[in-house]
Amino acid sequence: MKTKSKIKTKYIFVTGGVISGLGKGITAASIGKIMSARGLKVTMQKCDPYLNMDAGTLNPAEHGEVFVTCDGGETDLDLGHYERFIDTELTRKSSTMSGRIYSKVLSDERKGMYLGKTIQIIPHITNEIMNQIILSGEGSDLHISEVGGTVGDYEAMAWIEAIRQMKRRVGAENVIYAHVVFVPYLAVSKEFKTKPAQNSVRDLREAGIQPDILCVRSDEPINAEAFEKMSLYCDVDKDAIVALPNSKSVYEVPLRMEEAGIGDYICSALRLACTKPDLQDWQKLVYKIKHTKDSTRVGVIAKYMSNEDTYLSVFEALRSAGWYHNIGIDIVWVDSEKLVGTDAEFANLDGIVVPGGFGCRGIEGKILSARYARKNNIPYLGLCLGMQAAVIEFAREVLHDEHANSSEMDPNSKNQVIHIMPDQIGVDLGGSMRLGNYEAKLNKKSRSYLAYGQSTVLERHRHRYEFNNNYREQLEAAGLIIAATSPDLKLVEIIEHQGHPFFVATQFHPEFKSRPGSPHPLFRDFIGAIKHHSTGATLARGQKKATKHK
Ligand code: GLN
Repeated sequence: MKTKSKIKTKYIFVTGGVISGLGKGITAASIGKIMSARGLKVTMQKCDPYLNMDAGTLNPAEHGEVFVTCDGGETDLDLGHYERFIDTELTRKSSTMSGRIYSKVLSDERKGMYLGKTIQIIPHITNEIMNQIILSGEGSDLHISEVGGTVGDYEAMAWIEAIRQMKRRVGAENVIYAHVVFVPYLAVSKEFKTKPAQNSVRDLREAGIQPDILCVRSDEPINAEAFEKMSLYCDVDKDAIVALPNSKSVYEVPLRMEEAGIGDYICSALRLACTKPDLQDWQKLVYKIKHTKDSTRVGVIAKYMSNEDTYLSVFEALRSAGWYHNIGIDIVWVDSEKLVGTDAEFANLDGIVVPGGFGCRGIEGKILSARYARKNNIPYLGLCLGMQAAVIEFAREVLHDEHANSSEMDPNSKNQVIHIMPDQIGVDLGGSMRLGNYEAKLNKKSRSYLAYGQSTVLERHRHRYEFNNNYREQLEAAGLIIAATSPDLKLVEIIEHQGHPFFVATQFHPEFKSRPGSPHPLFRDFIGAIKHHSTGATLARGQKKATKHK
């Protein structure tokens, strides 16, 4: 299905009101999905009013995971939603923050580029915001830009003003606004209350923006009366309002939007020439999600236990792999700080994932988990720190040194099997990170090669430490498989254990490339191995069933 692309980029700005945490990112991503399903080239962007420069330094327990783009941008987790919904690799241009805007304006000021003028929020900051929006949408038919926070937030004011001005900058016929609100239900009077939503639309109007589309979030489906009220008081056409009560899966939201006619409304409001949406695969996916019966228990050995968003892409990749195999995934959070390594702690797990992380808190629990998985033939997937933990674990046994470690965790260890590469010593912490896409060459005899079905892959990285090559020979001789390296063979990218149902650990983060309808091959085969292993079947593709390790 191919549509004639418009030369001029059209823009949808997504704002939120009433409360935060409404799923504005999912709503924006869903608009992206129904429009890309019409054959349009869609780009997306998250605008965060924080004063940070990027998400790299934000605490994942508070803000959720740092999503890494292929070009190494450390971005807000909403970019993960965008990529999963519109199935397009975005770049660092798709995430911007106030810090980035101010820093550009201030550095231009120091260079004398403002020719003696006073620098002001309007027009200098707002102009820079518009520049970054336009740059991010360049070359697309439709650019969807989501403004973080809620309307009325002090720090979002310049952003709201900038998106208002965008109409003047690119032409009113090329811009529409979608506002996401919450309608609470008052149990005592058995009423949906639209007033907070009306007030947030009023705040938006005060800032000069009349929303074209309203996305109405609620706990229960709203009634006709509330719907009418929203239309009348907020002055929004009824066919531009979509009710979005809580759904079983976030992947249902695009279908709800399409049923409500939002896609067609956008096409006519922006005069977009496009074809009928092709959402067949998406419908099949949602059907699968709703009808998956059996389930399996996957332990995620985590340091942060309070916020599901901290490991969002990992969880989504696991679930997608589950849908692929028609098996539901029960994610069991295991507190790595509390683990002592007894059988009972792992007894109810069908598979173990050790996700990425920084710092030494909980590392011993991660190492013990890798050991348990290796020795008891439990499928294991290590992601970045999860690979480093697996290497440390094996080295401790092979080198007979229980203090073998990563130099990140123990700078005094005699056996630093994970270390900082000599050419990175002394580089600033920020500068020494390996970020974004790097090529890896696979060992054709490896389990990973079987999964990928190709010998070179591009995967996204975010780490500072690497496998120490001084230990390579010794560990390989003891049975460690180097399943992938950088093309120059210098950096170890994947390790495996021989004769194990599935023990694969990567220095990169495969979770960022997984999609709901096409799980990442390593996640897919990890869940596949669990499925076969737990039913006693031999592994697919002719691998021998593993025997218990010593
Ligand atoms: N802390 C480790 C490193 O910097 C692993 C990072 C990660 O898991 N993303 O190398």
